Amino acid sequence: MAEVLKHHKARKRFGQNFLNDDYWIQKIADAVDPQQGQKIIEIGPGQAALTRQLIAGASHIFCVEIDRDLAAWLRTQFSSGALTIIEADALKFDWRTFSEGEKLRVVGNLPYNISSPLLFKLAEISDRVVDQHFMLQKEVVDRMTAAPGSKTYGRLSVMLQHKYRMAKLFDVPPEAFTPAPKVVSSVVRMIPLENPAEVDEKAFHDVVAASFAMRRKTLRNNLSKWISDDMIREAGIQPEQRAETIPVENFIRLARLVSENNV
Ligand code: SAM
Repeated sequence: MAEVLKHHKARKRFGQNFLNDDYWIQKIADAVDPQQGQKIIEIGPGQAALTRQLIAGASHIFCVEIDRDLAAWLRTQFSSGALTIIEADALKFDWRTFSEGEKLRVVGNLPYNISSPLLFKLAEISDRVVDQHFMLQKEVVDRMTAAPGSKTYGRLSVMLQHKYRMAKLFDVPPEAFTPAPKVVSSVVRMIPLENPAEVDEKAFHDVVAASFAMRRKTLRNNLSKWISDDMIREAGIQPEQRAETIPVENFIRLARLVSENNV
């Protein structure tokens, strides 16, 4: 059993479900395989279950923790040579400035209530990242890695697959946490694509969001007020198709047409 902070009551608002099982903690650390000299940042170290194992490999890591009590406790557990603790909200953190210099390796057993906005925020600096290893709700990882045509393929799949190669590594059962969440979790590896297709990010975001606005509707129905059938066809898409059947590259083509034509 990992060493834990006594008397700390898990805070729901911070999505605190602490890993309590050495087998799973080690398995995640092995998947990350931290090495000395790498710039590793853990989001939400909590009671340092994973942090200790990461430091064992890397000698030093950075952590972003929002919970003031945990941040203060963490400072008493590690020397500043081993751990730099940044007390901050990972959603408001200045990732761009932090990622200057050596590229980052990002790790986290993420608070599930902020996982999607955090993934989108990190996607903005994907060019500054070596890799990301996250524990998330299994259902979210299934959506991230889904292929077109599958029921779980949606906005999250398209937006992230445009930037990353992703693979689910393994599932983790609720009993591995205290308190136990209601859902199964999965660990996902995300490696930024070396040359993501160039596209105006806002146009891409807007096209994808509008296309999936109503899942059961065709693209024509979701986009008719904005984009013509001809332009949809020019992007290699049939207007009668539903967004959940359309590959990422066609969304990119459509977004390019939208921005080139100032639609
Ligand atoms: N890494 C620990 C473990 O595996 O046991 C804790 C994981 S717990 C699911 C999520 C952690 O993220 C908590 O420590 C929580 O306080 C922290 N957290 C929640 N929201 C955060 C935010 N917006 N920014 C930074 N940390 C956050």
